[in-house]
Amino acid sequence: MTPVSVPQSRLLATAIPGPRSVELHAERLKHVTSGFGITLPVFIDRADGAILQDVDGNRIIDFASGIAVTSVGASNPNVQAHVGDQLARFTHTCFMVTEYDSFTAVCRWLNEHTPGEFEKRTALFSTGAEAIENAIKIARSATGRQKVLVFDDAYHGRSLLTMAMTAKENPYKLNFGPFPTEVIRAPFAAPLRWPTGAENATAEALAAVERILDAEGPETFAAMVIEPIQGEGGFIVPSPGFLPGLREIATRHGIVFVLDEIQAGMGRTGLLFASNHEQVVGDLTVTAKALAGGLPLSAVTGRVELMNAVHAGGLGGTYAGNPLACAAALGVFEAFEDGALVANACWIEAVAREMLDPLLSAAGIVVDVRGRGAMLAVEFADRDTLAPRAELAKEIAARCHAQGLLVLVCGTYSNVIRLLPPLVIEEALLRDGLTVLRDVVVQVDAAARETATREDVAA
Ligand SMILES: *Cc1c(COP(=O)(O)O)cnc(C)c1O
Repeated sequence: MTPVSVPQSRLLATAIPGPRSVELHAERLKHVTSGFGITLPVFIDRADGAILQDVDGNRIIDFASGIAVTSVGASNPNVQAHVGDQLARFTHTCFMVTEYDSFTAVCRWLNEHTPGEFEKRTALFSTGAEAIENAIKIARSATGRQKVLVFDDAYHGRSLLTMAMTAKENPYKLNFGPFPTEVIRAPFAAPLRWPTGAENATAEALAAVERILDAEGPETFAAMVIEPIQGEGGFIVPSPGFLPGLREIATRHGIVFVLDEIQAGMGRTGLLFASNHEQVVGDLTVTAKALAGGLPLSAVTGRVELMNAVHAGGLGGTYAGNPLACAAALGVFEAFEDGALVANACWIEAVAREMLDPLLSAAGIVVDVRGRGAMLAVEFADRDTLAPRAELAKEIAARCHAQGLLVLVCGTYSNVIRLLPPLVIEEALLRDGLTVLRDVVVQVDAAARETATREDVAA
């Protein structure tokens, strides 16, 4: 395989989407279900580093990483070398039928690197939702209990059980019920919108969790599942002390504490795992997304007594820990080995904050710039009421897209722009992308002010 290299600079060769993408999108509509949404209807020809090059020759800055997946870049040489070698040897045996040692090597790496100084075992699967489902299977099997505690604004996937665990109705759950029972939701200590103020969020949210457990019977809960930084829910960093408080509550009641590190893990936040920021340890840690640099791989890693509580044959899947995906993960681990990629997340945050923090005072529509490392977000809402302004986030994303910057919208109210650049992004490219975003926010803010003034005059 010849590695493909794409120049690391933005280039607008045509309008975005260009004519070839428009043609291909029309063809797509004839053959692909309309149930899949699309952020930017542009067809990609090749991708490397932090650039997506489309079929019309445009080079788009990638602030999405395929939703936090291609942290090592979309054509990482370590990943390509391992996958290329594996591809030449064999593509599949099914690990439940005959074995291959890359599966073991991935499990060993996760046992050694996930938080927790105890003996661990790992199970590999293909998707994040599948791993979360299996974490629940493991917790139920180990505890003999059934209930699952989840949180407001949580996202855990699109399968039936994980839809039940996910908070947002539209688009994830709409028309897809009924959902499995025994999933109970508690408040998440979200600083910005906590009703009595950010300073009360931790204590009041923990008290609410205790009340809910008391009412339901804490001894009926198998697991408590939480994202250490929420992803789809709006890149919400929990108020300090919330995660350690939950850890303590879970321990006290014998509830398996499950950290969903699928989006925030693997170096994204400037430490290998987002839970490292508060030294919180999960009984089970779930990883996926950036784990295999673009090949489908997910994992549940945790205490040996939990992981081995399941009967033999109770876990698995045809493609679980597929050889190509395991090879890719070994390439990802190599890319992470010298610590440079994780360190990159820290300077990415410093540069992004230098350019975006001033928007908090400069643009009236910005109410928060938050996140950790290379997992950052800007929230748009009314300054006084915090009423979400989804239409502005949408407008800003569209204008960025037109200028060759791919950003994603997220949040329960769809009013947050999130930044997930690959950790290999070069500084000049990062600054170019942030400049586009900042200028667009300033323009949209000015337009919003003008509209507000006109409405005042009319009233
Ligand atoms: C993406 C995501 C999932 C689901 O992963 P899939 O691979 O899409 O099934 C679960 N939890 C979190 C936090 C995620 O970001």
